[in-house]
Amino acid sequence: MSFLDIRHLQKSFGAHRVVKDFTLGIDKGEFVSFLGPSGCGKTTVLRMVGGFEAPTSGAVSIDGRDVTALPANRRKIGMVFQSYALFPNLTVAENVGFGLKVAGQGKAEIARRVAEMLELIGLPQLGSRYPFQLSGGQQQRVALARALAPRPEVLLLDEPLSALDAKIRVSLRDEIRRIQRDLGITTIFVTHDQEEALSMSDRVVVMHQGVADQIGTPFEIYNRPATRFVAEFVGTLNLIDADLVDAAAGHIRLAGVPVTLDRASPGRAGERISLALRPETVTLGRGGGDIVLPGRIAEVHFLGPVIRVRVSVEGGGSIALDTFNQADRLPPLIGAPVDISMSHRDLLV
Ligand code: ADP
Ligand code: MG
Repeated sequence: MSFLDIRHLQKSFGAHRVVKDFTLGIDKGEFVSFLGPSGCGKTTVLRMVGGFEAPTSGAVSIDGRDVTALPANRRKIGMVFQSYALFPNLTVAENVGFGLKVAGQGKAEIARRVAEMLELIGLPQLGSRYPFQLSGGQQQRVALARALAPRPEVLLLDEPLSALDAKIRVSLRDEIRRIQRDLGITTIFVTHDQEEALSMSDRVVVMHQGVADQIGTPFEIYNRPATRFVAEFVGTLNLIDADLVDAAAGHIRLAGVPVTLDRASPGRAGERISLALRPETVTLGRGGGDIVLPGRIAEVHFLGPVIRVRVSVEGGGSIALDTFNQADRLPPLIGAPVDISMSHRDLLV
C-alpha cells in the first residue's frame, strides 16, 4: 500500500459521472500533478482526497489509515486554492496561525511556528500586513504557509498559480517545489498547464473525462504518450496521414514517400493511418533522418529561442517543426522551397 492510496474513486452528480474509477498510489514525499483540461474532474478528485466531497464509491487512505469517512479537519491535509482565500480581516500572521489556534495551541507556540513559516516562504517582515496589502504572488505564498503551518501529512494544491502573472508563476513554481522538497511533504498539484506539470512533478497523471489516461514521469508522458489524447494534450503534435502498404512489415507511404517503420502497424494494406510527430524531431533541410520530404515554407512564428516553421509538404498535408534561433542567421522566408527530414523512429503510430 502506498503512503497516499486512492482506490477506485468514483463520483456522480445526479446522473453525471464526473470521476470514473480513479486509482493512484503516491509515495511519501512524492510530488504528483493532475493535468487535464477544464471539467475533466481534477478538482473533484482532489476534494475527495481532502475530505471536502464524499465519493460515490471508493476509498482513500493516508499512511495506512482509511480516511474515507473522516472530515477534512481530521485527515492531516493542507489545501491551497486558486483564489487565495485568505481571511481578509486577519493579518498575515493571524492567517498563517489560524489552523494552530483552532487546534488549541498556545500563543507562544503559535508565534514561533508562524515566524518559522514566514521565514520559509521568504516573507519574514510581513506578518502584520493585511492580505489586501500584498501582491497576488505574496498572498499565494501566505496561503501556502497557512496550509503548511499545522504540519499536514499531505499537501493539496488546486491550480494555485493560475491567477498569477506569467513571471511570478514561473518563480513560484520553483519556490513551491523547493519548499515541498525541504519538508518532504507528499503533494498533489492540480493544473491545466502542461509546462507546469512537466517541469514540477515526479509523476504526472493526465486526466480526461473523469479517467486517468496515463500515469508516468514527465519523460514518459511526453515521449511515450499512451493515448492519442495524451499525445495531443501534452506538447505540440503533428498528425500526418499515411497509406498502409504492408502492415505486418511496417511499410507505409508518407506524403508519397516509402517509409519502413520499426514495428508492425495496426490496420491492413490500403488503409489510411494517422502518425504523430513532435515538431522538435523534424529538421529543416536534409540530414535529420532517413525520411526526406520536399515542400514549401507556409508559416513562420518567431518564439524567441526557437522558430516554429510550418511547411506544406509536396505530397500533401503540412508539418510543423522547431528550429533554434541563431542571431547570425535570418529566419526562413514564407514561400521558399525546402526539404525537411526526420527519422522513422520518431513517428508515433
Ligand atoms: P476540473 O477541476 O478538472 O476543471 P471539476 O472536478 O471541477 O473539473 O468538474 C468536473 C465536472 O463535474 C464538471 O463537468 C463540473 O461541472 C461537474 N461538477 C463539479 N462539481 C459539481 C457539483 N457540486 N455539482 C454538479 N456538478 C459538478
Ligand atoms: Mg478545477
